[in-house]
Amino acid sequence: MPYATQPRASHFLNGEYVEDKSGEPIEVIYPATGDVIATLYSATPEIMERALEAAKSAQKHWAAMSGTERGRILRRAADLMRERNHDLSVLETWDTGKPYQETSVADATSGADALEYFGGLAATLTGEHIPLGGENWVYTRREPLGICVGIGAWNYPTQIACWKGAPALACGNAMIFKPSETTPLCALKVAEILHEAGLPAGLYNVVQGMGAVGSALVSDPRVDKVSLTGSVPTGRRVYAAAAEGMKHVTMELGGKSPLVIFDDADLENAVGGAILGNFYSSGQVCSNGTRVFVQRGIKEAFLERLTQRLSNAVIGDPMDPKTSFGPMVSERQMKIVLDYIAKGQAEGARLVTGGKRLDREGFYLAPTVFADVTDDMAIAREEIFGPVMAVLDFEDEAEVLTRANATEFGLAAGVFTRDLARAHRVAAGFEAGTCYINTYNDAPVEAPFGGMKMSGVGRENSKAAIEHYSQLKSVFVRMDDVEAPF
Ligand code: NAD
Repeated sequence: MPYATQPRASHFLNGEYVEDKSGEPIEVIYPATGDVIATLYSATPEIMERALEAAKSAQKHWAAMSGTERGRILRRAADLMRERNHDLSVLETWDTGKPYQETSVADATSGADALEYFGGLAATLTGEHIPLGGENWVYTRREPLGICVGIGAWNYPTQIACWKGAPALACGNAMIFKPSETTPLCALKVAEILHEAGLPAGLYNVVQGMGAVGSALVSDPRVDKVSLTGSVPTGRRVYAAAAEGMKHVTMELGGKSPLVIFDDADLENAVGGAILGNFYSSGQVCSNGTRVFVQRGIKEAFLERLTQRLSNAVIGDPMDPKTSFGPMVSERQMKIVLDYIAKGQAEGARLVTGGKRLDREGFYLAPTVFADVTDDMAIAREEIFGPVMAVLDFEDEAEVLTRANATEFGLAAGVFTRDLARAHRVAAGFEAGTCYINTYNDAPVEAPFGGMKMSGVGRENSKAAIEHYSQLKSVFVRMDDVEAPF
């Protein structure tokens, strides 16, 4: 890994890098080769204590600054991230194995968008004046929550660190971020850049560790809010632990989202949407439309065109800008996906393409498509989190909507059709937090992002995120005399 892009220690506490090798070692493995590229150390109780104390002592002063001042720092950090996009993208590729072709346009850039957007919003955060008749009124104050803990998944380490940090800081909170133990490097750079941009020490701390470190932070009484990006089982545990302390939560969890393609759709765009919604980041995207319902009349044409276009994927060295499909993040994740591929075959789905590990170093799988998948198969019900598309047939709109919604998940859903009345009807019928018409997987900072049902609670991005990082205080003001009964 180029020296310039390497974080300098395991943790970032109170404005500086901190190393403590007494914690459990965390090996960072480059997924394209399997080589260990760095060793970090899990946070000890002492490191966590330092993070909590730093956050606690910095937060009140930060909250007392004007929104304009806070926002200026976030916007400066956004500029620094954009200036350093190349180095940050290289680091993201080392951390995750995602191709540079993706990381250079979707990670630090998306993080910078969040910092810029919430930096701009910071000065607009106000309460309201509510007249009560006569000379009396109530005003509301929008106040920060206090200390927020962010816990990340491994697929978008820079983006997740910014999507949680930017609104938290804009609202006047302090953040302690625990990255995924699989991709621990990028959040450290986010912390470094924020402080270089002028963020006072203690407001954005990064501590490393496995689930136990996250769990200890969630249970600490000094923590006021927890925002998790992760799987449903982890979400259940974290939400329950947060409830014990009546803490605010945002839960960005898994999905098994439907993508419905009607026979009047523009076939080329529908195939493009299905590729984006299944194979970008080697399929490691929470909102992926992995249950692709194709209306029976166009199924074979869809599969034929899809297979042709998949043969154009450039699979190889993630650092080569021509590479468009990289390895899985880890050997463990690769094995989980291979197990699902074996289940798909055992349950009688038709393997159209892929279905195997590639004969090269690193954790590479071939982009995989199953057809003739039925609703009861494991590959149609469970989140795989890898490059495996399940194609299911359908006859009509009412049937497909019922089947699309027959899942405990509700993160995203998409529809391709030229009939716009039908498109809006189907979007309204989807039980999912993020829906797409004739597109898939867009996630601009201006729009709310999050799930319904088991896929989550709360929303990230957009003005909606402000509601999840602040609280309202009502202040009653009486100008008349107080009327007491005695
Ligand atoms: P995971 O649930 O295994 O881990 C997520 C994070 O939680 C990690 O940092 C982990 O260390 C931590 N953790 C684990 N147990 C914990 C506990 N008891 N207390 C506190 N923290 C704990 O998920 P993953 O494998 O890293 O990521 C993949 C999952 O994330 C998929 O299900 C995917 O759909 C989901 N995801 C969701 C979104 C979204 O925005 N909805 C985005 C990306 C990924």
